[in-house]
Amino acid sequence: MSRVYNFCSGPAALPEAVLEKAQSELLDWHGAGVSVMEMSHRSDEFVSILTSAKARLSRLLNIPDDYEILFAQGGASTLFAQIPANLTHGFDRACYLDTGAWSSKAIKEAKKYTDVILSGSSKEQNYTTVPDFDALTLDEKAAYLHVTPNETIGGLEFDALPDTELPIVADLSSTILSRQIDVSKYGLIYAGAQKNVGPAGVVINIIRKDLLARSNNAVLPTVWSFETLAKNDSMINTPPTFAIYLADLVFEWLEAQGGVAAMEKINIEKAELLYSAIDQSDFYSNPIDMQYRSRMNVPFVLADASLEATFLEESERAGLRTLAGHRSVGGMRASIYNAMPKSGVEALIEFMSSFEKRYG
Ligand SMILES: *Cc1c(COP(=O)(O)O)cnc(C)c1O
Repeated sequence: MSRVYNFCSGPAALPEAVLEKAQSELLDWHGAGVSVMEMSHRSDEFVSILTSAKARLSRLLNIPDDYEILFAQGGASTLFAQIPANLTHGFDRACYLDTGAWSSKAIKEAKKYTDVILSGSSKEQNYTTVPDFDALTLDEKAAYLHVTPNETIGGLEFDALPDTELPIVADLSSTILSRQIDVSKYGLIYAGAQKNVGPAGVVINIIRKDLLARSNNAVLPTVWSFETLAKNDSMINTPPTFAIYLADLVFEWLEAQGGVAAMEKINIEKAELLYSAIDQSDFYSNPIDMQYRSRMNVPFVLADASLEATFLEESERAGLRTLAGHRSVGGMRASIYNAMPKSGVEALIEFMSSFEKRYG
């Protein structure tokens, strides 16, 4: 068996220790005589897994008591519709910040449910920066303000949040658990698992309890209702049990690494190493405003674009997998989530330097 360094943006690399543990428990989970995939979601065994996942996530992110953790299906893209469907009930508009491909998709979907106020956009800057927070159009009568703090495709990340009384709804799909956050600043945090948490199939919602009442909307599909999900402990219907189990193992692994603060420290080191390698060379470049460069997704291009295919072919052969940029933008992208060890980033930098010597 040989495992390579996997730079895929999602579904992304998982910690090897987690995969090994899942393998060792696959046929017989803790003496149950069946795998997690084969047990009732209502069994004491599975309920204990769900309870453990919630408790660990709560500890890792210091989630206050007035928040509910929901595990749902449908991925982050479903939330693009599910959020306005739940949260705009009783309101006639919602504010959105447009900082790249994912926020644009969220906006497009929200428009089907409500009037969207574009609070700010960096589209004219080709999404290489973040709109000036002092110049945002914030309507205090809106249902919420939606932000995408890490744009996975463009490689743009921001930490500060706009100053507003509106509940902040944040798509943290590609940055959750990679850096410390203050959950109390958000109304709703959501994240598809397959970037930084676990396998595809489960999406995490962390919602402030007072917002649950907004789900009281007769035409809302039952399985979409945050309130009903909360009342049924994420089990209105069958939840993605195996994905929740793997997420719990990832949370356990994160705790063993020292938690989010320890991960953030390593993530800063990894990102600094890679960006400085890019900046030191005329052969490679990254277009994003330095202060907003993503720690998780590092896009870069070659000065000579005709070498891209060769770069991707040779890097793959060198054990550096899936470095192609998103199909909508091309170029290269290295996704370096929690599960990517520093040695993987060092191997990539070494490859980049040798490629430049040979072709530069
Ligand atoms: C990947 C991603 C999505 C889409 O996730 P799906 O689970 O495929 O729907 C949405 N937002 C962000 C920021 C992402 O990185």
